[in-house]
Amino acid sequence: MTNKFALALHGGAGPRAGKDYSVTEAHMEELTREGEALLKSGETALDVVEIMVANLESSGLYVAGKGSAPNVMGKVELDAAIMEGHTQAAGSVSAIQDVISPIGVAKAVLQNSPCVMITAQGANQFADEHGFEKIGDPENYYVLPIGVSQEDTEQTDMMHGTVGAVALDIHGNLAAATSTGGVFGKPAGRVGDTPIIGAGTWADQDIAISCTGTGEYFVRAGGALTAANGYKLAGDTLDEALWRMLDEVERLGGNGGLIAVSKSGEIAMAFNSDGMKRAAVSNSTALVSTTFAPCR
Ligand code: ASP
Repeated sequence: MTNKFALALHGGAGPRAGKDYSVTEAHMEELTREGEALLKSGETALDVVEIMVANLESSGLYVAGKGSAPNVMGKVELDAAIMEGHTQAAGSVSAIQDVISPIGVAKAVLQNSPCVMITAQGANQFADEHGFEKIGDPENYYVLPIGVSQEDTEQTDMMHGTVGAVALDIHGNLAAATSTGGVFGKPAGRVGDTPIIGAGTWADQDIAISCTGTGEYFVRAGGALTAANGYKLAGDTLDEALWRMLDEVERLGGNGGLIAVSKSGEIAMAFNSDGMKRAAVSNSTALVSTTFAPCR
C-alpha cells in the first residue's frame, strides 16, 4: 500500500464558450471530494471510477444517463465502458436502453460475463438478468443537461457530451470508466468511441484514460490506446501522449478531450473544443474543478 492516489473526472468536452457551467463545476468539485475520501480510505480504483460515473449519470447535469437525448427514432440509447488496469479486465455495453446506470451494467459485464462487450437488445437482456434498476417512464425520466436546449438535441452536427473517471488507488492500481448518451441527432444503433475498449476507454498497469468528443474521430485516430502507447512505448510525457492523439483527432476534423492518470500518480487533461468540464485531485495536487481554463 502507498499513500499515492489520483482521481480525474470529466463531464464532456461539449461546453460552449459564453455559457455558465458553475453548477456542474460545483457538482464535480463535490464529487471529486467524495472520490478522494474513498480512495484515501482504501477503496479500489475500479469501484471509485464506477461510483463517480454512476453519480455523474444520475445527476442529469451531463449528456449521459439521465441527461441523455433521444436518437432520431426517439429512443435514448446509451454506451458505457469500464476497465481495470492491472488485470486489464474490461466490460462494456452499447446502445443499451432504459437502465439507470449503464456503467453499472458495464461493470457487471466485466465481473460476471466472459464477454467484454454486449450490445443493444442483448445488453438490455443482460441488465434484466442481473437485476439492474430500470427507469420507470422514459418520457418523464430524461432531462436536458445544463447548457443544452431542445433545438440542440435536434441538430445533427455531432454535438456531444459524456462523463468519465480515471483513478489510481493506494494499492497502486488504475481504472477508467466512461459513459455517454452519445451525440445528438444520432441514428438508431450508432455507437461511438466510449464503449470501445482502447478507443474511448483504456486502463492497464501504467495508465488509465477516458475520452470525450466526436467519437467517430477518436476511433479513427486510434483513441485512448494510441495515447497510452505514446506514453508507454514512444517516450512521450503524459501530456504529450494525450495531445499527440488529440491533435490527430483534430487533423481528421473532430474535437473533444481526454483525461489520464499514470501509475506514478500524474494527472493530465487535454481538450481542443471550447471547454471540457473536468475536476481532479491527487495526494500531491490540490483539487481543481473547471470548464474553460486552458490546459495547453
Ligand atoms: N464520445 C462520445 C460519442 O461519440 C460523445 C462525447 O464524448 O461527447 O458517443
